[in-house]
Formats: sequence, structure tokens, C-alpha cells
Amino acid sequence: MPVIEILSKSVPLSDMYEHHYDLARFRKLCEECGNYNNVHTCPPYDFDDVNYLKDYSHILLIVYKIVFTEAEKEKYFGDEYIEFSRESILSAVYSLQNTLFKMEEIYPETLSLGMGGCKICDECSKPEGLPCKFPEKLRYAPEALGFNMMSILESYFDIEMKWAVDRLPEYYTVLSGLCSKDELKIPNEKIIEVSKNISR
Ligand code: SF4
Repeated sequence: MPVIEILSKSVPLSDMYEHHYDLARFRKLCEECGNYNNVHTCPPYDFDDVNYLKDYSHILLIVYKIVFTEAEKEKYFGDEYIEFSRESILSAVYSLQNTLFKMEEIYPETLSLGMGGCKICDECSKPEGLPCKFPEKLRYAPEALGFNMMSILESYFDIEMKWAVDRLPEYYTVLSGLCSKDELKIPNEKIIEVSKNISR
């Protein structure tokens, strides 16, 4: 399996809103996605999403950088790299989400964000007009709230977002964060330790 590098940075949410927020632009992209209006984590929302984070001052951004080995890049191409990419990204998403859930438990009055459309159930209950089956796990992705993931990665982590073209890229990135009412000064080693403990 690929190597996961974990990176983190605490930033004021005011900075995120000033430099990396464009709700109209990113909501339009959401509208073109199959998850739009079909998954509870995705827009349109029945709450005031513009002010959703108003009670929080900072966000601890966490990036999982999924780095492929040379052997993996040689081995997976054609249709096979698509499935291997999907497995690798999903595994990182579950790991990061569970790490964030654990950090919510450790650090009071925090709120974790999600990643993309929720994939917990095989079929989301939203199209049937039913409530979420696991509301305690319902989290909204930064991009669904209007944040620019590419510029966040570049500005705070100096990482360029990569996509696959016919074969595995050098790496993929998965990004989310933990919102807090005051700045959390959590060393990256602590996040790595939490992530190791939840994957056991
Ligand atoms: S937990 Fe299930 S019902 Fe709730 S948003 Fe996720 S997929 Fe939909």
C-alpha cells in the first residue's frame, strides 16, 4: 500500500474566509456532481451554511498525502490504477475521518469537517426523503461549505493537488480539519499517534 504522510497546520478561520473562500464558485461545481441533493452531507442545505462555522475561530487543517511507491506506479495502469486509486483514497478518507472523530473526543468544543460526499451507507437515505441513518457521523466537507481546497493546499502546505492521467500520479491528497473556539496547538506527532491508534 502507498505511504501516508500526515501534515497539519492551525490557521485562523478568518484567513480561510478571506483568501480561500468562494461559495458561489464551488457551489456551482457541487451542482454538477451526482451527490448534489442526493447525499445528506452535500448541498443544498436546509441550514445557514454561510454561518455554519461562526462559533469557531480556528481550524487545524490535516492533510493525508498518499504517496505511491515506484513499484505501484509501474504496476497499476490502465483500468487497474482506477480501482487502486479508489481503494487508496477511500482508505485515507476513512482513516482521517476517524482520526478527526477521535480528536473531537479528546479536545472539547471542537467540530470536525468531512471529505467529499459521505460514503458510510451503500445508499444514502436523502433521495427517499428520510433522515441520515448515522447523524452522529454527519460532517460537511470544506469544499461543500465553499472553501478552495487547491489554494489551501498550496498556500498553507506548499503542495500542488495532483490528478491521475492514465496512471497513478506521484501522490494524492486528502484534506479536512478540526474547528475550534480557540487556537489548538497540537503537535503533528500527536495527530500521527491518534491516527495510528484508531487504525488498529
Ligand atoms: S451516514 Fe448514510 S444516510 Fe447519513 S449522509 Fe452518510 S450515506 Fe447518507
